Amino acid sequence: VRTLYLALVHYPVLNQVGENVTATITNLDVHDIARSCKTYGAEAYYLIHPVEQQRTLVRTICEHWTTGASAARIPDRKNALAIVRTASSLAEMYSALGDVEVWVTSAKATPSLSWQDARTALTGEGKPVVLLFGTSWGLAGSVMQSAQHTLPALRGEVNTGFNHLSVRSACALTLDRLRGAP
Ligand code: SAM
Repeated sequence: VRTLYLALVHYPVLNQVGENVTATITNLDVHDIARSCKTYGAEAYYLIHPVEQQRTLVRTICEHWTTGASAARIPDRKNALAIVRTASSLAEMYSALGDVEVWVTSAKATPSLSWQDARTALTGEGKPVVLLFGTSWGLAGSVMQSAQHTLPALRGEVNTGFNHLSVRSACALTLDRLRGAP
């Protein structure tokens, strides 16, 4: 099976009026998405943020839960947070990972492949796949365009006209569709 990475992008992401902005890292996103990534066998979970203090915050959270007081209290959590990494940009992450295939996600994406095709593609041989998720109002257009594949939007079978999931839910649901046990 192919190696899978997941990245939560905080820049460039869109704001309410479609401008490129930088979002703030949310503590919950560090823990919740790390647990989903660990559950489904992602190799690493990258938080992308251009501001050093924000990346330091992530490292502080992880150290607290991998070596600090909370590690003693909830040892299990350190296994999830041990796969957390930070990068100042997508470019820096790609240079660390080498040759990868990039798949992007969005609530209103025009997919380039079906869920079944995506699941099958991960079972074969090939370069690692990096799944990108956005914050704020979603991944910037430049990020969407530069990807090799766009996954289908997650949505109900009946069109309710609403499918703006939290990024934490979107990560968990996507990982389960791609790598979940039947
Ligand atoms: N502030 C919000 C939060 O805390 O969740 C951030 C929302 S952010 C735009 C949601 C991200 O989750 C999107 O960039 C996308 O990666 C993913 N996402 C949300 N809804 C989705 C859907 N229906 N299908 C696929 N991905 C979705």
